[in-house]
Amino acid sequence: MSDCLFCAIAAGDIPADVVHADDDVVAFRDLNPQAPVHVLVIPRAHYANAGELAAADEHLTARVLAAAASVARQEGISDAGYRLVANTGDDAGQSVHHVHVHVLGGRSLTWPPG
Ligand code: 5GP
Ligand code: ZN
Repeated sequence: MSDCLFCAIAAGDIPADVVHADDDVVAFRDLNPQAPVHVLVIPRAHYANAGELAAADEHLTARVLAAAASVARQEGISDAGYRLVANTGDDAGQSVHHVHVHVLGGRSLTWPPG
């Protein structure tokens, strides 16, 4: 999709610190990390949010989740624990409208979130 920041990152048109890339999924470090490990996992295909992705493509939804777990293992936070977040829509504060899963870890995380 033109005019989409994360489509541009997936295409390599905007630089990012990529930690995983395959045919379907890209994972890169968040520009403004909220934890020692803060990676965003996206499908290369453009869907506005998690609900749209899940409704359109169950296989790709699973690939994104599997990649998030794989990134957590790769980053060494699997055993200690980590959080996956998909902010969806205005009340959740979604600011980039290309579905992404935050992988957060490397410290104790508070609950509930704000
Ligand atoms: P949201 O608020 O939509 O759940 O998350 C969007 C995330 O994208 C934020 O955590 C923000 O820091 C991150 N972000 C925004 N612009 C960029 C960018 O250009 N590069 C990277 N790596 N992360 C970005
Ligand atoms: Zn996009």
